[in-house]
Amino acid sequence: MIPLVDVYVGLGSNLDEPATQVTLALEALGELPLTQRVGVSSLYASRPVGPQDQPDFINAVAHLATRLSPLALLDQLQALEQRHRRVRQRHWGPRTLDLDLLLFGKQVIATPRLQVPHPEMKARAFVLVPLAELAPTLILPGGQSVTALAEQQRSPDLIRVLPYNPG
Ligand code: AMP
Repeated sequence: MIPLVDVYVGLGSNLDEPATQVTLALEALGELPLTQRVGVSSLYASRPVGPQDQPDFINAVAHLATRLSPLALLDQLQALEQRHRRVRQRHWGPRTLDLDLLLFGKQVIATPRLQVPHPEMKARAFVLVPLAELAPTLILPGGQSVTALAEQQRSPDLIRVLPYNPG
């Protein structure tokens, strides 16, 4: 039997009712094959990275336990992005749903298609703050505490807006 691995997925949306996009995606993550949803963070509102002439983002992080391989999980996340009819006209532009595989157990993966830990997560308050809310004692494969990193990156532009309510 393939063991269950703890993974963390970052979610973001700034088009077509972002809070609804993120809430529906959090529910869909709980229905992925060979995967259980263990927990979800609150929703957060953040200013966009890059071009500022676009709406604010809603972000969240989900904790899953999966028997999928890293690439099989990435396939599932990309299929879910497509089901949300993701629009990507430009790098760092608006999108209906962005899913990032942040952490896959303690694994370090460096392939053209998949890098884990996600290369930008240590610099992003909208990833670190919800991740620290969900898993305050988590240590990254490089040895850094998620809570310490979140405190370094915390910004007044990131606002906890809604506790996620699965309804
Ligand atoms: P973006 O939409 O800007 O998040 O980038 C998507 C691209 O990043 C896809 O082509 C993925 O194959 C690649 N990628 C590399 N590492 C990751 C990761 N940890 N999570 C999600 N996508 C990744």
